[in-house]
Amino acid sequence: MKRSCPGSVEDISPAMAANTGGSGRRGLRSLPMGCVAGILPACVEGVPPSNRGPEALGTAGARARDPTSAMAFGLDAATPWGRSAAARGSALRGNAAMYVAALFGILIFAAAVQAQSLWDLANQNKETLRIATLFTAQDVRDRFSSEAGIDAAIDWCKKTGVTHAFIESFRDGYRAERSALEHARDRFRTAACDVSGCVTTTKVGKDSTGWKGIACYTDGPTQAHIQEIFEYAASMFDEIMIDDFWFTDCECPECQEARGDKSWPQYHCDLMVQVSRQRILQPARAVNPNVKIIIKYPQWYDQFHNRGYEVVRETADFDRTWVGTETRDFADQRWGGKVQYEGYYLMRWLGVLGGAKCGGGWFDPYGTHEDTYVEQARQTVLADAKEMLLFCYGSLQRDTGPANVTKLRTEIPGLFRLAELVRNRPLRGIAAPKPPNSDALDEQYVYDFVGMLGLPLVPTDEIRTDVKAAFLPVHALKDPQWQGKLETMLNAGAPVLITDGLARKLPPALAENKSLLVLPVHGKPRSLLDLTRAQLQPIRDKLLAPLGIRFDAPTKVALYLIGDNCVAVENFSDDTITATLEFAQSVQATRSLILPTDGQADFSFVGGKIEFTRITPRTLVVLRY
Ligand SMILES: [Zn+2]
Repeated sequence: MKRSCPGSVEDISPAMAANTGGSGRRGLRSLPMGCVAGILPACVEGVPPSNRGPEALGTAGARARDPTSAMAFGLDAATPWGRSAAARGSALRGNAAMYVAALFGILIFAAAVQAQSLWDLANQNKETLRIATLFTAQDVRDRFSSEAGIDAAIDWCKKTGVTHAFIESFRDGYRAERSALEHARDRFRTAACDVSGCVTTTKVGKDSTGWKGIACYTDGPTQAHIQEIFEYAASMFDEIMIDDFWFTDCECPECQEARGDKSWPQYHCDLMVQVSRQRILQPARAVNPNVKIIIKYPQWYDQFHNRGYEVVRETADFDRTWVGTETRDFADQRWGGKVQYEGYYLMRWLGVLGGAKCGGGWFDPYGTHEDTYVEQARQTVLADAKEMLLFCYGSLQRDTGPANVTKLRTEIPGLFRLAELVRNRPLRGIAAPKPPNSDALDEQYVYDFVGMLGLPLVPTDEIRTDVKAAFLPVHALKDPQWQGKLETMLNAGAPVLITDGLARKLPPALAENKSLLVLPVHGKPRSLLDLTRAQLQPIRDKLLAPLGIRFDAPTKVALYLIGDNCVAVENFSDDTITATLEFAQSVQATRSLILPTDGQADFSFVGGKIEFTRITPRTLVVLRY
């Protein structure tokens, strides 16, 4: 039997049900008609037909209304206002001023209701996915000097579903005033926001010989200054995030002498671990025994150890970890070069390393447009982040920030749903280990590009042999047992994809194993995006066979296997695409989620084969089967 189900619907979560109503009627009482379509466009997908309220009547297939349009506020022709305006013509012209005033009043009311509702939804879902923003030390100085500035910030948070405010005490050599920090902290708490502190360790003392704004932490007075900065923050906040400048690449004469026989990466890692313990964690806890300190790792994971980020010892020492997932726009001249899958790979990898300590992902608007901005949010949440931070309030008020946030607001209900779908569901797929502190050589961030080829990766921190399929680049060389482990996998019949860089290190006997595939990276991971669909097919077929899956799609379409009965496909390209996904067993597929809210993903299935006849550009679709 062949069923076509572009508009299939599926179960609804308890949190969503609280908003859309167990029945349409109850939902309408809690949210005035007309607003519902605007506030919950993504959730409508998840409501069974019998439970759909009038909000669903205006949607066509997967499309939902633009929440910023007048229609979303109930001002279309079907409203009493629309009809009476047409019928009464001249009478209304005489009352034009009253009409405009009333219309204005409705718009204000509708906007207020919408803001309130996204705020309510965020509060109901914050145990699954909390949304945060950061107010930099400069924001505290420039925007929190008046009550009006704080009011505006709180209003923006409520409209954006932001229930957690990080208020920063230090950045770029500037320390915010205690009175301003404490006042802002208390205002946000009164507004029912969770509040934490933040420190950005830029311009703190003696300059590094490398990265601008970074310090030499071999220098005693610089260490003392760091201690003072954290004692100050800990005196006001019970949780302090450290933005991702907590590293050093200094090679000054003082550092040269102190490192002795160590390599630079070893010296920088040892130094940062020691200074973290002695100048941050111990003194901060002495000032405030309740304080929890978060180390936030940058997005440039293949360089961590070279600049003193040591993910094993630092993750063990700090109370919590966070992850930079800002991939921005691949094509952007200043900020580009990162593919979207990087946010996912890194968030998952640090999630494995951090376990319960791993909190959230953090992304920003630089070099993005609306579509690439929300892709960062989707990858962060797909990777099981418990929280996402929108860096930062000040930057989101200018340039592309406002448009980005407008688009994000439409996806937030869907992101809550996505967080529920991935929580506590183990990943299936191709093991993709990156040992901590491993060198990438000329295969920098190759995992990200492999993920863009529709190969569902399972990021891990160690090479394990009990896997069904694996991908190994030159990073594997960090594991002294890598060759024996590879041999074990191949002898067990597990297909292993290795890069041409790693292939050059193989003994001839292993190189000829029939379960081995070699990926031609040629030292240019981004060249993988040029592989054709035909070139990809044999690689995918062989690697996915042990999983009982076959997948066919162009490049820049990623596949995620979540638990035993959930699959996500994200089209990162600017083209509408087709794809097929085949399972060894017969499946009944239903759609759980689509983002953006006006995206389209038409599919049909027969037996074990799901055929996507259309997935619109930059669209994420999640199916249950
Ligand atoms: Zn130095």
